[in-house]
Amino acid sequence: MGTKFIFVTGGVVSSLGKGIMASSVGQLLKKQGFKVTMQKFEPYINVDTGLMSPAQHGEIFVTNDGAETDLDLGHYERFLDENLNKHSSVSTGKIYSAVIEKEKQGRYDGATIQVIPHITDEIKSRLLKVAKKTNADIVITEVGGTVGDIESLPFLEAIRQARKDFGYENTLYIHTTLVPFLKAANEIKTKPTQHSVKELMSLGISPDMIVLRSEESIEKANKEKIARFCDVPNNKIFESVDVEIIYEMILNLKKQKIDDEILKHFKLKPKAKPDLSEWEDLILKIQQIKETVRVGIISESISLHDQYLSVFESLKHAGFQTNRSVEVKWIDSEHLTEENIKSKFKDVEGIIIPGGFSSQGLTGKLLAIKHARENNIPFFGICLGFQLTAIEFARNVLDIKGATSREFVPNTKFPVIEAISKQNTNGVNNREKLGLHEINVIKDTLMYDIYKKDLIEERHRHSYELNLKYKKSFEKAGLVFSAESKSGKVEALEYPENDFFLAVQYHPEFISRPLRAHPLFVKFLEVIIKRNK
Ligand code: GLN
Repeated sequence: MGTKFIFVTGGVVSSLGKGIMASSVGQLLKKQGFKVTMQKFEPYINVDTGLMSPAQHGEIFVTNDGAETDLDLGHYERFLDENLNKHSSVSTGKIYSAVIEKEKQGRYDGATIQVIPHITDEIKSRLLKVAKKTNADIVITEVGGTVGDIESLPFLEAIRQARKDFGYENTLYIHTTLVPFLKAANEIKTKPTQHSVKELMSLGISPDMIVLRSEESIEKANKEKIARFCDVPNNKIFESVDVEIIYEMILNLKKQKIDDEILKHFKLKPKAKPDLSEWEDLILKIQQIKETVRVGIISESISLHDQYLSVFESLKHAGFQTNRSVEVKWIDSEHLTEENIKSKFKDVEGIIIPGGFSSQGLTGKLLAIKHARENNIPFFGICLGFQLTAIEFARNVLDIKGATSREFVPNTKFPVIEAISKQNTNGVNNREKLGLHEINVIKDTLMYDIYKKDLIEERHRHSYELNLKYKKSFEKAGLVFSAESKSGKVEALEYPENDFFLAVQYHPEFISRPLRAHPLFVKFLEVIIKRNK
């Protein structure tokens, strides 16, 4: 069979959760026995998502093949339970720069380069590329933004053309809209949906299905009204109501048989008998959780917690496995002082310092590590958190007062954290180590106890690393290096004096999944739980 394409657009407002809806649909189709992959079209003009500010834009998610992408891909991977790749993330900037590059190489034979056909052809080529790369039966492509935005027009035009190029039976348009509830009138309003569909139709796209986002379930009569106005059959109007646990979305859409309707449209017969028991069991399990664990995440700014989205999700996954709901307290490191640290940490049972690229709040983070180390508070450092752990230890245990990272003090005399390559000492903002890499775990360590194997694979995103020159002194002072890369670089450190004091140079949060919590996060919670008994 040829690849089938599903296009998901959004109307009325942003933040409708269309990515979660789209990936829930993906999970359902996967359960019908198809190979499914996902892709995001981002209307923004940035070429390199990796350079976008997480404080503004949220987390930069990293795929196995080292693509730095939008955080939506994290949702896709978690819901779909499939690894994505660099073709899964496409921005306007990437499209234009590819077209301009080809033009410079003379590959358009002197033609005048235009949005149609050159930009739209380039966009369509990305649909085929992701299909080819993953061998997927079904590709689900979400168009970012809201229909009506100037920026998304070329993408919408390209997906419009896709139906003509690939055929009616091979393409399906799902439009998601908001159905607001007006308290004063005590009724829901369908008008914004009608307008949004009209707008989409004016661009030449008639949705095959509509998913209505609302707080409460929508009456049949209202759905029929929308169906009539929007020219969509009654049985192709679905709803996505607010859910307590986001993974319930998968089951809710299943109840409405959205997957069966999609297969009918594609004239496909199911390849497997869908079994959703693992998701049903997960939700049941979450609903029965009674106890809570409180974890502090230290960040440099409390303005956008989405910048640590995957860490947050990983903690939740580990909570599912250990029957705990995890409450996160965000601790702003810029306001941490020796005087207030005790009271700030009073109500948390463990501390996480996640990755980062900012020199903001470093002093507070170092204080937090010292406090955790000296008071045996379970501590878990990730990437920058790992590097700062080494710096804290060097300063306070090895007594190297000036110990620091070249990232923040380029000409330091005590580079405990050193640039991976010379390039980075010149302030070039390229990540040197990106994506999945093999790591050797050293026996008789906490790390080995957690992974129970010698060879693991984890995703990376960093440009600095521990300076091996200091390794011996660290070891003499009681620090244990419990994992290393193929080239002998340190990937994990631990302090066996404490119940759980562990830091890793890589990003375990990118591979944690709701049905397969990451063992590091699980162990972190288990240790906390055990201490409480
Ligand atoms: N800024 C550090 C580096 O580039 C840490 C990176 C991270 O935390 N992802 O090495």
